[in-house]
Amino acid sequence: MSQPTASQPIRKKSDNKNFDSKKSLPKRSKSKGKSASKSVSKKKATTVKHKTADTPPSRRLPNRNVYPFFQKLADTIDEPVTELEYSSNFELLIAVILSAQATDVSVNLATRKLYPVANTPEQIYQLGEEGLKEYIKTIGLFNSKAKNVIKTCKDLIEKHNSIVPDNRKDLEALAGVGRKTANVVLNTAFGQPTMAVDTHIFRVSNRTGLATGRTVLAVEQKLLERVPKDFIVDAHHYLILHGRYTCQARTPQCGKCPVYAECMFKDKAKFAEI
Ligand code: SF4
Repeated sequence: MSQPTASQPIRKKSDNKNFDSKKSLPKRSKSKGKSASKSVSKKKATTVKHKTADTPPSRRLPNRNVYPFFQKLADTIDEPVTELEYSSNFELLIAVILSAQATDVSVNLATRKLYPVANTPEQIYQLGEEGLKEYIKTIGLFNSKAKNVIKTCKDLIEKHNSIVPDNRKDLEALAGVGRKTANVVLNTAFGQPTMAVDTHIFRVSNRTGLATGRTVLAVEQKLLERVPKDFIVDAHHYLILHGRYTCQARTPQCGKCPVYAECMFKDKAKFAEI
């Protein structure tokens, strides 16, 4: 998953070995967003410089805006699920490890060939590092990832009865699994209210004023404080998909944005005209 979760279906899917998530990728938006301002000066729009993930934090998004912010994302994102393809918790774990600093698309291309051949800890362990590399060599950092995946498979077999742990401590003890990967697995596989802050969530949180912070951990903690209970489990995927397809780094699609009214990004009116 590039650096960086309806919720019930995905967890049922991940627990069902027969589920084929490859046929169930998420739909994007139902609408193109009707709330963007239409009274923006075109003259101003021509002077806008592209903003990036370094966009300075916006003013804090008011508490009264938080619930509608997520309600509108929920109304427009039909399936808040990961775009990584998997059909078991183990496949998800390996896909997330492989996705560090790589795109979901590149990981899916590799795992589509790997998983039909090996999709259990024992089978991937049997491939060995060199055998595994043949399947993942198109993914960045594949040498170190192959090493980590083989070690993780060994530990799963020897310490966890080949079952993916459902707690942070055991997950983070696995090779190649840091806080973000553990958060993704805990959220997506086990439905826990964790927040894996990736580049999209970090940008969207700061830009909208939803959860401003200089570090990933600071943003994660603020999100956990601010996201309403009704949305806490799916917020992770709402924010990732919103950042990936609407609130993009260089050119946020403010003119099509469903949370335009709630967002505190100071240049949103200018970008609405682009
Ligand atoms: S209005 Fe623009 S900056 Fe604000 S969330 Fe929407 S796309 Fe992002």
